[in-house]
Amino acid sequence: MHEIIHAVPSEWAASAHVDINTYQDMYRRSVEDPDGFWREQAARLDWIKPFTKVKNTSFAPGNIDIRWFEDGTLNVAANCLDRHLATRGDKVAILWEGDDPSESRSITYRELHAEVCRFANVLKALGVSKGDRVTIYLPMIPEAAMAMLACARIGAIHSIVFGGFSPDSLAGRIGDCRSTLVITADEGLRGGKKVPLKHNTDSALTKTIGDEKVLVIRRTGGEVAMHAGRDFWYHEMAATVSDACPPEEMSAEDPLFILYTSGSTGRPKGVLHTTGGYLLHAAMTHELVFDLKENDIFWCTADVGWVTGHSYIVYGPLANGATSLMFEGVPNYPTNARFWQVIDKHKVTIFYTAPTAIRALMQAGDGPVKSTSRASLRLLGSVGEPINPEAWEWYYRVVGDNRCPIVDTWWQTETGGHLITPMPGATPLKPGSASWPFFGVQPAIVDAEGQIMEGACEGNLVILDAWPGMMRTVYGDHERFEQTYFSAYKNMYFTGDGCRRDADGYYWITGRVDDVINVSGHRMGTAEVESALVAHSGVSEAAVVGYPHDIKGQGIYAYVTLMAGVAPSDALRKELAGWVRKEIGPIATPDLIQFAPGLPKTRSGKIMRRILRKIAEDEFGALGDISTLADPAVVEDLIANRQNRK
Ligand code: ATP
Ligand code: MG
Repeated sequence: MHEIIHAVPSEWAASAHVDINTYQDMYRRSVEDPDGFWREQAARLDWIKPFTKVKNTSFAPGNIDIRWFEDGTLNVAANCLDRHLATRGDKVAILWEGDDPSESRSITYRELHAEVCRFANVLKALGVSKGDRVTIYLPMIPEAAMAMLACARIGAIHSIVFGGFSPDSLAGRIGDCRSTLVITADEGLRGGKKVPLKHNTDSALTKTIGDEKVLVIRRTGGEVAMHAGRDFWYHEMAATVSDACPPEEMSAEDPLFILYTSGSTGRPKGVLHTTGGYLLHAAMTHELVFDLKENDIFWCTADVGWVTGHSYIVYGPLANGATSLMFEGVPNYPTNARFWQVIDKHKVTIFYTAPTAIRALMQAGDGPVKSTSRASLRLLGSVGEPINPEAWEWYYRVVGDNRCPIVDTWWQTETGGHLITPMPGATPLKPGSASWPFFGVQPAIVDAEGQIMEGACEGNLVILDAWPGMMRTVYGDHERFEQTYFSAYKNMYFTGDGCRRDADGYYWITGRVDDVINVSGHRMGTAEVESALVAHSGVSEAAVVGYPHDIKGQGIYAYVTLMAGVAPSDALRKELAGWVRKEIGPIATPDLIQFAPGLPKTRSGKIMRRILRKIAEDEFGALGDISTLADPAVVEDLIANRQNRK
C-alpha cells in the first residue's frame, strides 16, 4: 500500500523537547542503564522520602512481581497541586466546557487545590481511609477530577466506572473491588440528553452487598431520591468541612487506582496501578510525546472513565502544571462542528482524540471543520485503535491544515501511558504507524512459538522488560494477571495485539491477535484490510473478520458503513471487493460484504470484532458478554442482514 513519510518539520526539530539525536541517546541509555535513567527521570516528581532502590521487577513464571522506587514515598495529589501553588497558583488547571456551548468554567491551581482538600475532608467524614476503594460514577464535570485527586490525597483507591454504563455493569464493578463509597451525580448531561446517574446507582445498589454509602454531586438539579443514612449531598457536606487537608504519605507501590479495561475481547479486567511509577510515566509521556510547553492548552477528548482520561486529562497534565481542557459533551452536539468550535473558543494548542471520532466526523465531510479556524492548533494525537491511513491523512490535511504533526500513540489500560509513539520533534511520521518505542520500552515481535523475530517481520507484540507505569496486578486476582499477560510467552509481557515491523524499524499495530484471519495459510491482521476499505471514497468505516470457508479455511467477511449519501448496492459490493484486491492483493479480497449502518462498539468507541465474528459464523445465538456494548440495537440489524446463512 501507499507509504508516505512526513518528515519532521525543521521548526519542530529545533524547538521540541526531544529531537532525533536526543531520542536516540535517551532511548539507548534507558535500556542499557534503566536504574540510572529512571533515577534521573524520577526527579520530575516531588518525593516525601527519596527512594534508594529504582527497579525491582520480575517477569519469571510463578513470580510476576513489579516494583519501582519501592522505598520512596510521595503523594500524587501533592504532586498535581501543592507543588504548583508557588509558581502557578493563578494558572488555569482545568478548563471545563459544558455540554451546552454556553457553559464553561476555569479553575485555577489554587482553587483546585482548595476544592480537592475540601473533597478529601468530605471523604474522611464519610469514613473513607487509606486503602479503601471508592467507585466514581460521574459525568465529565470538574468534580470527577476533584474526586480522583481527593482519593489520592488521603490514599483511597479509586475505581472509575464510565457514566454510560448500566446499573448491572456498575454493580459488578462495585462488587469486584468491594467499594465502600460510590460518588455519583444527580444526572449527567450528554448531547442535550440527561443521564440518570443517581437512579442507576440506586438500581446498582440493590445488587451489591448493600453497605455502601453514596455521595451525590448536584449537576442538573434534577429530582432524585435520597436514602437517609446512605446518601449524602456533596454541597451540603462540603459546607461543613475545612479546605485544609494534609496529603497522606504513600509508598511508591501503594495502589492509586483500579480501572476495568474496555471489554473489547471479553470480561473486563480490574487493572491495578500504583503511585510512583504510574505518575512518573503519565507525566513524562505527557510532556515529551505532546511536547508540552508552559502556555499550551491541552485537550484530550476521552472520558475520565477510560485510562486515557486518567493519564491525559488528570494525572499527566496536572503533574506537569498544564492547563487541561475537560469536555462534558459529545462531538456531534449541537452540530458536527463542536470539536472545532471548542478548539477556537479556548485556543486549544494540542488536541488528542480517537480514530472512532475522527472517522465519524470525516463522514460528515470537510464543511463543519472548514467553518472554523483552528489556528491555535499545533499538534494532534490519536489513541484507541489503529488509525487507518485515510483517516490519518484527513485529520492531518483537513483538521490540522497540513501544519500539525500527529502522534499516533499505542498503549493500553494495562500500560498506564504511551509505549509506542512518535515524538513530534524526532520521528518522521508514517500514517497508520505508531512508529517507535518510548523510553525504557523494549517491544519485540514473536512468532506463534514465542521465538523473537528480527528485522522486518509480522507477529505478536510483546514487551521484554518492565517499565514504571505498567499495571501491577489484576485486582484481587494475581493469577489472572499472570495467566492473561505472561503465560502465552515465558518471561515476556504479551500485549494481545498483532504487529508488523518494517525495514525502518516502525511498528504497525495490525489489530488484536484474537482477530487475526488465516486465509489459505496467509495470516492477516484486520487493520490492513479495513484501511483499504476506508480508503475508498464511499466508505466511512469498516470492520473485517474471518469465517469458516470450505476451501480457504477462513474467508474474509467485511462489514462496511458507507459515507452519508452513498447508497448500498450489489454493484458497490463488487467494486469494493475489486478495490481491496487492487490495494492489497487477491488474497485479501473480501468474500462477503455486508453494509452496516452501525458497528458494535464498546462504550469507548472500539469495534468489537468478537461479536461480528459470531454473526459472520452464523452463530449469533451465543454472543458472549455484551455488557460493555454501547448500542445493543446495532446487533439486531447486523443479524437480520447477515450474508452467511447456513
Ligand atoms: P479488553 O482488554 O477488555 O478487551 P481493550 O483492549 O479495548 O479491552 P483498552 O486498554 O482500552 O481496552 O485498549 C487497549 C487496546 O486498544 C490495545 O491493546 C490496542 O488493541 C488498541 N489501541 C490503543 N491505541 C492504539 C493505537 N494507537 N494503535 C492501534 N491500536 C491501539
Ligand atoms: Mg486489552
